[in-house]
Amino acid sequence: MLPRALGPLVPGAIVRGPTHDASRPCLYVTIDDGPDPTGTPRWLDALARHGATGLFFLSAPASEAHPDLVRQIAEAGHRVGSHGDAHVSGWRSPGTVRSSFERAEEVLRALVGGPVRDVRPPYGRVTPGLVRWAREGDRRIVLWDVMPGDFLASRAPKGLADEVVRLARAGSILALHDGPSAARAVAALDLALPRLAAAGWTFPALPAP
Ligand SMILES: [Zn+2]
Repeated sequence: MLPRALGPLVPGAIVRGPTHDASRPCLYVTIDDGPDPTGTPRWLDALARHGATGLFFLSAPASEAHPDLVRQIAEAGHRVGSHGDAHVSGWRSPGTVRSSFERAEEVLRALVGGPVRDVRPPYGRVTPGLVRWAREGDRRIVLWDVMPGDFLASRAPKGLADEVVRLARAGSILALHDGPSAARAVAALDLALPRLAAAGWTFPALPAP
């Protein structure tokens, strides 16, 4: 089971983004585990529907298998970050973990034609070695403070949306997923974002580090 909400203090990683305007709180939408031939088009449509800009944490093998989807993500104005090589856990050897992220960065850099400096470790597993590696390479480890559990088949979109609205704070980073659960996550987003938007929220991309 993944943690739904990480504590606010994970040294060397962020769980919230910047807040600029107290009257217009923002929520940063991040999407892990893509690209996916079924899920990613749903995500792109949904983000466009809500005027939201996402940050997609993509894996190396899926990006190599679906380079067109990676380009579509970037061309639609969304940002991409590294989710490593085939979901390598942060508890593996430090060298394996680092090379996993670096491989995804390389693949993504070539596809989007720009630097890829945001990293999301699978399962949110952060070690001191990973923090050091990120700092030395001018990278940023991006965790989250809102993860409603869209990957659990037992969670219905309505419950997921309620949890997003309940947990969102100005600058919150929302973590959802591409892949087999994308339809459920997108349905939840379709319920949550209009409620937040009606209360003045905006959904910009997490600014580059
Ligand atoms: Zn993942």
